[in-house]
Amino acid sequence: MQTDFQTVDQARQNILEQLTPIAGTRTVAIREALDQVLAVNVLSPINVPAHDNSAMDGYAFHSSSIQSADITSLKLIGTALAGKLFDGHCASGECVRIMTGAVMPAGCDTVLIQENATVSGDVISFPPGAVSPGDNRRLAGEDLAMGKTALPAGKLLRPADLGLLASLGMAEIVVRRKLRVAFFSTGDELRSLGQPLDEGCVYDSNRYTLYGMLTRLRFVELLDMGVVHDSPEALEHAMLQAMEQADVIITSGGVSVGEADFTKDVMEKLGSVNFWKIAMRPGRPMAFGQVHNATSGDSAFLFGLPGNPVAVMVTFYAFVRDALFKLASANHLPIPMISARLAQDLRKRPGRTEYQRARLSTEHGMPTAHLTGSQGSGILRSMSESDCLLVLEHAQGDLKAGETVMALPFEGLI
Ligand code: AMP
Ligand code: MG
Repeated sequence: MQTDFQTVDQARQNILEQLTPIAGTRTVAIREALDQVLAVNVLSPINVPAHDNSAMDGYAFHSSSIQSADITSLKLIGTALAGKLFDGHCASGECVRIMTGAVMPAGCDTVLIQENATVSGDVISFPPGAVSPGDNRRLAGEDLAMGKTALPAGKLLRPADLGLLASLGMAEIVVRRKLRVAFFSTGDELRSLGQPLDEGCVYDSNRYTLYGMLTRLRFVELLDMGVVHDSPEALEHAMLQAMEQADVIITSGGVSVGEADFTKDVMEKLGSVNFWKIAMRPGRPMAFGQVHNATSGDSAFLFGLPGNPVAVMVTFYAFVRDALFKLASANHLPIPMISARLAQDLRKRPGRTEYQRARLSTEHGMPTAHLTGSQGSGILRSMSESDCLLVLEHAQGDLKAGETVMALPFEGLI
């Protein structure tokens, strides 16, 4: 058995190097594609917009009609509406009434906004400087040119992307198949909801936080395997069953020093799993590797997360999230961090990455971070009350009120 000490960055790097993305795609209606991973480069089959058109309500004409030192007067010869062409030709000295989105009539390259026009019968006039050549004209293909990449493979599709696909006339799109993730909790002290809480026991909460975090990644399909008791047979059985159905297995508990060694034995028996002590808090012990079933040929990547409820969440954010993105072939989306002022002094030991729970408020126009109470790795309440994690880097020492820290906001994260 191998037990390594490493930094958060080393562990993250180690994990990412060992992962190979899963194969498989599916074709879905574009609504179904929200938050899924695009499997192909989408080339635009058309110019968007298809024609030069007006960006404003006003009058279209050719810029050569503009008098630079005098009032320009143009003869109004017709109307162009959105979806309804003006099919004549507009000659020098003439103009066409035009609405936003209407195709520019032949012979026109400029639109005068209606607020700048003086209308007298069928004569439209405006003073020098009211408009410049090419104003208020949207060019064909300025949004997307035909044949150009509209969306790159690997993009996690957001609402704007669904709109973009629709603007290209695409009703269906090819996305990656969902990543299948099985998860279970280990520990004889754990009780599932609905069971009586025997003396010395706790309810299994990790499966619910994991459910929540995984469900937010909508390219993941979940397989909740419940609580597995601390016995080699039960654990091996659960692992083999998970491998049969899933690409990734996430367990919690049983990887810390002093735990019954069979957890490690079983994980090692089934593949190449490393046990790491990571220089971080919370979340020090963690296992990562690949497990195989020699008979069936099934395999899966395994994340053995620590059992403490906050450690599960922190290790998920620090390692598992990025790993799932890579396995799903999604382009890396760095978690956006914001800088905040500390509202209070903060103790931090150099030589490990610490994640502290805090709430952000705006004070004197600056995001300001207040810790949410006890930071014990089993204390979910301070996690629940927080809206961000302060990420205190490996070498960082104690900090004073007023100093700047980096915060990982939860909203919009996963
Ligand atoms: P372990 O990593 O198995 O040593 O567990 C560390 C601590 O986390 C122990 O106090 C466990 O009771 C607790 N714990 C482990 N798994 C869970 C779980 N699924 N839900 C709630 N607490 C847990
Ligand atoms: Mg345990």
